[in-house]
This record gives sequence, C-alpha cells and structure tokens, in this order.
Amino acid sequence: MSKNIIVSNRLPVQIVLENEKLAVFPSVGGLATGMKSVHADGDGIWIGWSGLEETQLTQKNKENVEKALLKEKCIPVPLTQDNIDDFYLGFSNKTLWPLFHYFTEYTSFENSQWLSYKEVNEKFAKVVLDNSEDGDTIWIHDYQLLLLPELVKEHRPNSKIGFFLHIPYPSFEIFRIFPWREQLLKGMLGADLIGFHTYDYERHFLSSVKRILRLEVNFNQIIYDDRVIKVDSFPMGIDYDKFYNASKLKNENTQAEKSDLQIRLEEHHKSASGTKLILSIDRLDYTKGIPNRIKAFEYFLNQYPEYKEKVRLIMLAVPSRSNVPQYKRLKRETDELVGRINGKFSTVNWTPIWYFYRSFPFENLIDLYTSSDVALITPLRDGMNLVAKEYVATRTNQDGVLILSEMAGASKEMNEAIIINPNNFEQFSNAIKQALEMSEEEQNSRMKILQKRLKRYNVEKWASEFMKSLSNTNKNQKTVQ
Ligand code: UDP
Repeated sequence: MSKNIIVSNRLPVQIVLENEKLAVFPSVGGLATGMKSVHADGDGIWIGWSGLEETQLTQKNKENVEKALLKEKCIPVPLTQDNIDDFYLGFSNKTLWPLFHYFTEYTSFENSQWLSYKEVNEKFAKVVLDNSEDGDTIWIHDYQLLLLPELVKEHRPNSKIGFFLHIPYPSFEIFRIFPWREQLLKGMLGADLIGFHTYDYERHFLSSVKRILRLEVNFNQIIYDDRVIKVDSFPMGIDYDKFYNASKLKNENTQAEKSDLQIRLEEHHKSASGTKLILSIDRLDYTKGIPNRIKAFEYFLNQYPEYKEKVRLIMLAVPSRSNVPQYKRLKRETDELVGRINGKFSTVNWTPIWYFYRSFPFENLIDLYTSSDVALITPLRDGMNLVAKEYVATRTNQDGVLILSEMAGASKEMNEAIIINPNNFEQFSNAIKQALEMSEEEQNSRMKILQKRLKRYNVEKWASEFMKSLSNTNKNQKTVQ
C-alpha cells in the first residue's frame, strides 16, 4: 500500500524538553491544518526538523523524542548547530529569502553556506529514502528544500513528487543573479508537480526554466529528462471556519470573561467615540513594509489633519529572526519611527500609534481583528499574506475594510479590498481616507464577496486540489499528452 509523505523544514509540532521531561504539542498553524487529511490518510508520515539541536540531546533523550514524534506520525531530520547556522539562518534566510522577495541588496552569496544547504537537503533525502518506498506520494514544501525533489526522484522514479513554494518566485531578471541557478532549478524539476501561490510566480518560474535551462515548455508543462513536469498555481487559503466561528462565538457570548486586551479596546471605543481603529499585524520582517507604513500614516495625518484624534493605528509586530543584522536594524528603525510620530502628534487624549512588539495568542488576535474598522496590510513583497484573509473571515457582521498591497499574493484573489501600491503615498493616504469614510452598504457588499470566496477556497481545499492534481500527473511520462 502506498502512503503519503509530507516533507517540510519544520515538523508541525512543538517539543518541550526540560531536564528529562518531554512534551510534544501538535502545532496549530495553517499548513498543519491544511495537511491534516493528507497526513492522517493511511500510513501518512511527516518528515522535518524537530527544532532541537542534535548534539545537545543525550542518546536517551534522542530516543524518547523519536518515540514521542512517532506517535504524532512524525520523523525527525537531525540538524547540528552548524547546519542551523549555515543552512537555515544562513542560506535559507540570508540568501533565498531576500532574493526571492526582491531584496537583492540584502542578499549574501556565501559558498560555504551553499555547501551546507546542499548537505542538509541530502540529509533530508536520506530520511525520506529510509522511510519511503517507490510509489509513495511525496509532497515537499518550501524554499529550504529546493534541491530535495531531484535527490528523491533519482531513487524513487515511480513516486509522485509534489513541490510547493510558499514564498514568491521572482522574475527572471532577479533569479538570474543567483550563482547556483542551474542546480536550484534542476533540483525543483525532480518534482512531477510544482505549485505556486499565484499565476505570476508560475510564469516567472517557467521563464527562468526556459531561459536558464533552455528547456521546452508547453503552456504549463516542462519536458525534462524524458519526463513531463506540470506547473500550476494553488493560492493557499486559511482555516476559515476556525476564524469565523471564534468571532461569532465571541459576539454571541457577551457575558464571557473578557481579555485585558478586549477591555482596553472597548475602553478606547467608549472614551473616544467616533475614533476608528486601523489594524496591522505582521512578523517584523523587512518584506512587510512596516517603516514604510508608519511613514505613510504620518503622510495621511499631515494631508488630512481633520483625522487627528479620530483614528488610531494598532500595530502588532511579531519578533522574528532577531539575530540577523537586518532584522535588528529594522527593529531599531521601527521603534524610532513610532516614537517620533507619537511624539510629534500625541495630545493629552490621543496617541496615534499603539505599538506591540510581541506575539499574541489566538484569542487576542480575534479581539484585534473583530475590534478594528480597517485592516492595513501593506507588504512590499509577500508570497501570500494570511493575515489579510483572517481579518476578512472574522468580520461576521460583514463590516470592516481591508486595504491590501498589490505586492501580496493575496491581492490576486481579493479584488474587493482597496488595492494599493504601498510606495505611492498619495494613493496610500487616499485609501485610508476612503476606508474610513466607506458606507456600510459598500463595506457589506465587498465583504460578502470576499468571505464567500475565502470560505470556499479554504486551506483544506488548497491541499486537496494540489493532491488531486498530483495524482493526475502520469508516472514516468515519456511524451507530452
Ligand atoms: N500570527 C500569530 N500570532 C501573532 C500574530 C500573527 O500566530 O501574534 C499568525 C497569523 O494569524 C497568521 C500568521 O501568523 O496566520 C502570519 O502569516 P502570514 O502569511 O500573514 O505571514 P508570514 O509570517 O507567514 O510571512
């Protein structure tokens, strides 16, 4: 009996190991939810890094971790501290991440880190081969494992191998800069199906394949090594019902104990009636355009001073990769900008920006989403952006306005949002004004369409569409159909 194998850099679990005590918690992220049915099916397994550094584990702990993971149908790939430094923090986060997000000036090309990237992809391949048989279906995820499809295909010619990229795929003019471009493309082409969030990313990839490898491309099929490889777009959705139901429950259950955050949000509404809340939530990452957003908000306050004391920006920045120098600088810049703008505009009754540098539990995210009149999601570059979708899913009264950057993959499916180019401050500031003044009828009619679409194309649908397409690819195709 063939089985499904999912491979991603991190396993969908959190392991807590204190002294000799071990606890494994399944994680609740979007990918884990989408993969539930694929993973639960038959003997399905998930292969990835546990998050623990290999050499710090005693033999006994190692065995216990493996046993506990196996109960969750997970198999760990061991990583050393050097692997973590060079493959993960190094090549994945300082080379591939900035390059694929068009931040070429942040991109470093270190041969030693490339070698480590290759070595770790080989480590993953070994674990996959040790735990699979030819004929199993294998779904590999994301930019940390671009070489893995080829490494596995070589030994599993009859397996259907899918690959999905969760970040943007850049245009040829960006990708061509990459020193090991041929190897990377060939690595991906080990897959039978290659999926992207949007049609644009798909187009960019096909163009790189044509121009760098000089391969024949027919519509969305590539002929390579006597095989036909299918390339397609599958925009990832969210667990819609989870967000919708949590919000609905909160609205209905007004007697329930309120979080401190909710109490503060309600105080805000009482003390400053008519003051609207604008929400932004992102990891503190340079791709998210956080300093740009703060400056655009300042531009708005200068351009429309009648909105002073009438609007507040709640900005949640979740700490991320804080040991990488660019992220440290970004943190400093953000702190300074918030300080400068609050210092400049604040009055006795009003602070224009409420800034939180931390992560919030799910319940608090729901409090923020449901209390905000406008969501301001303005990345400079973003593969998809799930926060935009989550905001829409929580608006059970079908009010609220989403302002969304055209640089986010999500904008391709969310035309009813106010779509902006975040670098155009005139447009940015007018979009804020438009959102604050939008009639309820218009809010409702836009929200209804967005919600209907997101409910239908939820994360489970995304996973099942990918798997359906993968199973329709032909084994060992020799010719184009
Ligand atoms: N999120 C979270 N805790 C927080 C803030 C955000 O778990 O305090 C979640 C949020 O609900 C969303 C994810 O983090 O599901 C961010 O995903 P997105 O695609 O927007 O951006 P990414 O961080 O993957 O680039």
